[in-house]
Amino acid sequence: MLLSIKTQLKLNSKERVLMSKHAGIARFTSCGGLATWQALYKDGYKPNHRFLRTFFNNHVKTNPDLFWLKENGICQKITEFAFEKLGNAYKRFFKGLGDYPRFKKRSKSLGSFTINSGGKPINVGGTRIKLPTIGWVKTYEGLPHTSTTKFTVSERAGNWYVSFSFEQELPKPSIKIPIIGVDLGIKVLATISSGVVFHNPKARDRMKKKLAKQSRQLSKKTRGSKRYLEQKLRVAKTHKRVHDIRLDATHKATTTISKNHAKIVVESLNVKGMMSNHKLAGAVGDANFYEFRRQLEYKSKKFGSEVINAFPFYPSSKTCSNCGHIQDMPLSVRIFDCQSCKVSLDRDWNASKNLEKLGL
Ligand SMILES: [Zn+2]
Repeated sequence: MLLSIKTQLKLNSKERVLMSKHAGIARFTSCGGLATWQALYKDGYKPNHRFLRTFFNNHVKTNPDLFWLKENGICQKITEFAFEKLGNAYKRFFKGLGDYPRFKKRSKSLGSFTINSGGKPINVGGTRIKLPTIGWVKTYEGLPHTSTTKFTVSERAGNWYVSFSFEQELPKPSIKIPIIGVDLGIKVLATISSGVVFHNPKARDRMKKKLAKQSRQLSKKTRGSKRYLEQKLRVAKTHKRVHDIRLDATHKATTTISKNHAKIVVESLNVKGMMSNHKLAGAVGDANFYEFRRQLEYKSKKFGSEVINAFPFYPSSKTCSNCGHIQDMPLSVRIFDCQSCKVSLDRDWNASKNLEKLGL
């Protein structure tokens, strides 16, 4: 199956400049391409990305004022991919699958670019990658020993990332427990029917306090001033840190769950409905439901297990996992005290046990 990886690059200042140049050219290309496309369309033509590329190569690249487009060490593949991306965005738009392509703003991120080596496979593995034309760059994380055909390099909050896809054969399932119910929580990340609880990391709460403080400081600064922009970068970095801590905890939980259980029963959460409930919105968004489910789905494929969705509105929280009695359970009630058989257990654990039963 096709797996993909996105990981942070460990760059020196010279490499950062080089990446910014590439991203800048990709942005210049797609903005120019978009403007040309719109102009041609107004004149009654039906442009496509191949036409734009030819136009760009023959007329724009030959302009002596735009010498920096062809500077040494700049991979010329990036403009090709920028046009291809634009063409795909238009295709999606015409099929009604996406919004009208927009001009890329520089304010949020330096952007991204994609490069390849003419379709030839490129080996990766360990903590270095040889990017076409650019050369060797380091990564923080060790990469699997495999090969790919293209890389996308992108920037967020001052950090650079590389992403790529690769083929991997499905491993034989190494399953210990046949079936498990998973209750995705607000107070805790997840509770599974064996009784294991995956907690929200404490570090994240500390960072959230810091984030609130930094945001307050930002609101006091003059918009657009140097101090404002510096503070904005600080806020973006903290946002990223909060996000990373949560993502890391989610990854650990979903790996453990999908690696060790053959069948995983989860609630089919009406997350959108919960999101519209204001009181819950913050907590639910935070609890990362969508991401948790997404990870479970792809990791279960990787480890040879299976994710089963409970039918919508299955009352996993309101049902007694011991006797089947159904009773009202407001969100504030953390313990399920069965009014029928008198069993008493944690609300989330009770729910996960019911999900497990559903799978049987
Ligand atoms: Zn009961």
